[in-house]
Amino acid sequence: MRLDRFICKHTAFSHKTSRTLVATGQVQVNSLCTTDPRQQINQFDQVLLNGQLLQGSTPLYWMLNKPPGYLSATEDPVHPTVLELMPAELRTQLHLAGRLDRATTGLMLLTNDGRWSRRVTAPETRIPKTYRVRTATPIATEAESRFKEGIWLQREGVYTSPASIERLSDTECRLTIYEGRHHQVKRMFAAVGNEVTALHRERIGRVTLDSALEPGDSRPLTQDEVQAFM
Ligand code: URA
Repeated sequence: MRLDRFICKHTAFSHKTSRTLVATGQVQVNSLCTTDPRQQINQFDQVLLNGQLLQGSTPLYWMLNKPPGYLSATEDPVHPTVLELMPAELRTQLHLAGRLDRATTGLMLLTNDGRWSRRVTAPETRIPKTYRVRTATPIATEAESRFKEGIWLQREGVYTSPASIERLSDTECRLTIYEGRHHQVKRMFAAVGNEVTALHRERIGRVTLDSALEPGDSRPLTQDEVQAFM
């Protein structure tokens, strides 16, 4: 948003007065005085008007090791939510960059940066997500070729991107997919006549679940981990 519109929106001043306040050097953006009303302001820019803070939030990026039984939601009347596992002072600020089913465990990313979370989750960005999968019956060799070709998802009317599969045992594999559609892994296995009995997310893009995190634990991402999605 333009700086003059930002001032108008966050104060009782008119648009004309807002422009004058900027032009006469009464506004600072990230500690620098600016007189250009067209300067673009984003969600995390700190804006001061005559020394008074109008906006100044810090971007937050966290990973969580999700235990089973927690809903990927901000609130729910019945089940506990993953946000309840986060530090209390951050709960109202964070949102989820992607969801996991209630029984699924492993890596979840949380942030207050909408642009960053869209890059993590949008199917078009093709960020790989790697899951450890256990199945009810042995994984057929046909599953590997079908996953490589792409599985038709009726509801969305699309084929999944070619997925890669690493066999760990007859009924266990590591699967990497390039979207994060609703129940995608379960629907892919259902399409080849199998059933997922356990699902654990190990990795999203270049970010791997920290092995030091017990189920339910979380930590802030490192600079490198945040940059992996910039
Ligand atoms: N695919 C699923 O089916 N469930 C998940 O929780 C994540 C991916």
